[in-house]
Amino acid sequence: MQHFSEFEPERIVLKCRWCGEILVLIGREEDWRSEGRSSFQCECGESLTILANRVPGEYNIEQLLRRLGAPNGR
Ligand SMILES: [Zn+2]
Repeated sequence: MQHFSEFEPERIVLKCRWCGEILVLIGREEDWRSEGRSSFQCECGESLTILANRVPGEYNIEQLLRRLGAPNGR
């Protein structure tokens, strides 16, 4: 039996340079590639690619979401 909770799912975070929108892809880069998905459209219409728009390093999604959804800011 595998304990999935101990494994963080692979995530790819893309950030649009135009509008700052964050796109979170669940899965590995090679999986997206094998699906033929190498570019993703942002809400602003900009085309994001894993190569060009990936946010490098560790990205704390929970922190990010909290920041986006903070009711009373700071
Ligand atoms: Zn955008």
